[in-house]
Amino acid sequence: MKNPTDRRTFLGAAATAGAFFAGRAARAGEAGKPALLGGEPVRRASFSSWPRTDARDENNLLEVLRSGRWFRGGGDKVNQFETAFAELTGAKHCVAVANGTSALTTTLSAIGVGPGDEVIVPPYTFIATVNAVMLQYALPVFVDVDPETFQIDHAKIEAAVTDRTTAVVPVHLGGSPANLDAILETASKRKLSVVEDACQAHLAEWRGRKVGTLGTAGCFSFQVSKNLSSGEGGAILTNDGDLAERCYAFQNNNRGRAVDSYNFRYVGGRATNLRLTEFQGALLLGQLTRLEQQSATREQNAAHLTSLLREIPGIAPAKMHEGVTRNAYHLYMFRYHPDAFASLPRARFLEALKAEGIPASGGYSPLNRESFLQAALDSKGFRRVFSKEVLDGYRDRNQCPANDRLCEEAVWFTQNMLLGTRGDMEQIAAAVRKIQAHGADLAKA
Ligand SMILES: *Cc1c(COP(=O)(O)O)cnc(C)c1O
Repeated sequence: MKNPTDRRTFLGAAATAGAFFAGRAARAGEAGKPALLGGEPVRRASFSSWPRTDARDENNLLEVLRSGRWFRGGGDKVNQFETAFAELTGAKHCVAVANGTSALTTTLSAIGVGPGDEVIVPPYTFIATVNAVMLQYALPVFVDVDPETFQIDHAKIEAAVTDRTTAVVPVHLGGSPANLDAILETASKRKLSVVEDACQAHLAEWRGRKVGTLGTAGCFSFQVSKNLSSGEGGAILTNDGDLAERCYAFQNNNRGRAVDSYNFRYVGGRATNLRLTEFQGALLLGQLTRLEQQSATREQNAAHLTSLLREIPGIAPAKMHEGVTRNAYHLYMFRYHPDAFASLPRARFLEALKAEGIPASGGYSPLNRESFLQAALDSKGFRRVFSKEVLDGYRDRNQCPANDRLCEEAVWFTQNMLLGTRGDMEQIAAAVRKIQAHGADLAKA
């Protein structure tokens, strides 16, 4: 060191507190050149890997493998999982299915959503929510989002209801519950079913109750990216015993729960085979033992990250509705405002974050503007089922300006990034502050 005063200050600080030393090092990193412009990245280590497995998963899988009873009903793993998941969530019934999309398809079929119906959905969701509706030859009607929470704007649902509307599918996007009080009230007033798309919201809670148990039914996904995973997989929760039986029969070619292997009770109605295998049941039983602990870690880390990010001008972490008592944090979501970053475009901000060792995504693009919708509406089936007037008026009814803006501003971190340490959260915030400090240089380069 050139200057003895600097050296004394440095030694004194280091001797006083290790925390200060760490803070000083982090700030030195922030002051340095952005990694995108050739500087040192804030972080080199990768974040927690996903999916995670342990000896229990291996033993469960081997047990099924060696048994030769690989199919649902042959062994008992899927049944055991259904019982355990219902118990954990407080639902009366659980029906496992092949994936989250088939959970939605099964539920919509079982409640009788069909050709000519309209189903209210948010535009800020994974495409499966909408595909499941259209598979029934029903029209998805988009209700705009509330950009503060990223969830469906519940106050706009009622105005979208017509005499064709039979259901609303609120999505607990990112694991943060939509406003279930308001949605259930509107649904009850207008006599609509509520199918909760909880594919991202395992163990999330609304006023102390697990989501997926408050509506007519709740649908879950166990695709590998989800907080509870078996590669592919899904489940339906409901407190309605008849509905559970119809769901079970739908995914089992009209056969109800078996009494003995060929003595099924045929339930009736349209049906198909969407069964989960015993291998997936085995994986889920192991994964389920870790879900609570992992959810608690995500929640703690997310709260810390929010406390850091909300201090940064131009960063607006997604807010939660007042009734949310637990957020599953499948995604950590915030809005990015370039004005506070010397007009650095979001795409460049994402690149700069990645270069600092913080992978991030810009999330969904506007679903209600995608070409697959028009292609389906132009098909013979839809033209047979809906009047020209309804189809012609469709585009105008489905404008979602708040969602268009949200899709340009959103930034996501994936759930596995929340499974590490508080220090990981501090590095994420440090990277954002560093990019902000060098916004002008990054925008120019
Ligand atoms: C993942 C997901 C689905 C579909 O689940 P799959 O298991 O992939 O079929 C549906 N809705 C939402 C909101 C999802 O995130």
